[in-house]
Amino acid sequence: MTVRRTRDVLADGRELFYFDDTEPFVSGAATRVVPDTRPLGPAGVAGERRRDPLTGDWVVLAAHRMDRTFLPPADECPLCPSGRGSVPSEVPSAEYDVVVFENRFPSLSTRVPDDVPALVDGEALWPSAAADGRCEVVCFTSDHDGTFGNLTPTRARTVIDAWADRTADLSALTGVAQVFCFENRGAEIGVTLAHPHGQIYAYPFVAPRTERLLQLAAGHRAGGGGDLVGDVLAAERRAGARVVLAGEHWTAYVPAAARWPVEVHLTPHRHVPDLAALDDAERDELAVVYLELVRRLDRFHGDPSAPVRLPYVAGWHQAPVGQGRDLVRLQLQVTSVLRAPGKLKYLAGSESGMGAFINDTTPERIAARLREVAA
Ligand SMILES: [Zn+2]
Repeated sequence: MTVRRTRDVLADGRELFYFDDTEPFVSGAATRVVPDTRPLGPAGVAGERRRDPLTGDWVVLAAHRMDRTFLPPADECPLCPSGRGSVPSEVPSAEYDVVVFENRFPSLSTRVPDDVPALVDGEALWPSAAADGRCEVVCFTSDHDGTFGNLTPTRARTVIDAWADRTADLSALTGVAQVFCFENRGAEIGVTLAHPHGQIYAYPFVAPRTERLLQLAAGHRAGGGGDLVGDVLAAERRAGARVVLAGEHWTAYVPAAARWPVEVHLTPHRHVPDLAALDDAERDELAVVYLELVRRLDRFHGDPSAPVRLPYVAGWHQAPVGQGRDLVRLQLQVTSVLRAPGKLKYLAGSESGMGAFINDTTPERIAARLREVAA
């Protein structure tokens, strides 16, 4: 498996990377690089982040993103290759396999203004800083009507290499504390562009979920346990009731305390902190296992002949950059708000107000359904 990465720079200075697995690009006999001739204004600068004294969590204020592209007509898709629609897109090349570029409307940016105060209103309770970091967009395919689940295993493997490459690069940026690769899918959860794509956030802080996991994992180890995610994986494999599918290197299971009407975790058998640390055999199997998993998700509320497109969030939980790398294992968590066709699970009083989830189904039932709809 060979993938060629080619760097390009867009008209406003943002970086773009082509990841090619087809000829004549993969051998370098031809290049995707063509000039971006759009008259773009300056690239988006970082907004502000503030720390909530009642939770300790950083909140990113991205008010400038209100101007971002919202559900454009298909012939103005900014993620299709240029030349396909009526206007030049974010991708200058006339075709691509997988492409990654800096988000034009970023929540986090390396372009940092120098006028962000260190405190909100001068109060010590309210630390403030620039929302530094970086946001990237990953286009899984140049096919506007495609889905991740319709990729070939080769192309899915290229996406995995792109995620791993970006995780390594972004982790090396000054100030980046954690890298999060994810896919939001479906208008139900706020996706503003129909083209199949994911995103990568390079945060300047450890995200709240990971911060909590670090504390729990440290306590688990201090109490004589192993790595917490690995011990949970072993327990799920022993129990078996919630295991959805298992390979040589990966197991997918519905967690024993699932919070969502559809939820599944995919965990590597070996302790690795992030995608960049996966070896070739693990990446090869991941491409196959992940495709099978997302295809089953579309059969969750339908059947193989009449799949129901499931809105989901698929997020790669990775260890922070500089700490806890032996405590936090890489893990994919896929969750959906669709509890039945046309019926959404809303984060209402208990979930939004208290963070206490009420699930209307059982993890065992979710797992049984995901096994039932195997190909
Ligand atoms: Zn498109």
